[in-house]
Amino acid sequence: MHINDAVFLEDLCPKFRFRQWRKSIHKFTGRRCIYCGKPSESIDHVLPRSQGGLSSTENCVPACLSCNGDKSDANAFYWYRKQKFYDPRRAMAIRAWLEGDLRLAIRLLQWAAPNSKVNKKNYEKNESEYKAA
Ligand SMILES: [Zn+2]
Repeated sequence: MHINDAVFLEDLCPKFRFRQWRKSIHKFTGRRCIYCGKPSESIDHVLPRSQGGLSSTENCVPACLSCNGDKSDANAFYWYRKQKFYDPRRAMAIRAWLEGDLRLAIRLLQWAAPNSKVNKKNYEKNESEYKAA
């Protein structure tokens, strides 16, 4: 199968739904970059699309432009471990996220940044959206 034959969420969903989906991804982390905790301005594909990564919630994390651009097509965990802001709790959160366990991912992120806006309320509010998707 050629890479262009892959089905992406963007192709399946109308634009409006895609925007809602992007919004809900950012809301999960309180609009913080999953890698460094700065404001998230983009969605990063943990497994790059060039390597077959899908635009699914499990493969898409909120990231700031700096992390997203710097990581580029590198392996997310390998790249992240080399960063100054590396935090093993965040690395665990990313793993949980990839496994679809957003509840655990958010708990780990709260642990890594107790003062950030990541909160359970946000997650509960979005859980129905996530399940509906
Ligand atoms: Zn970042």
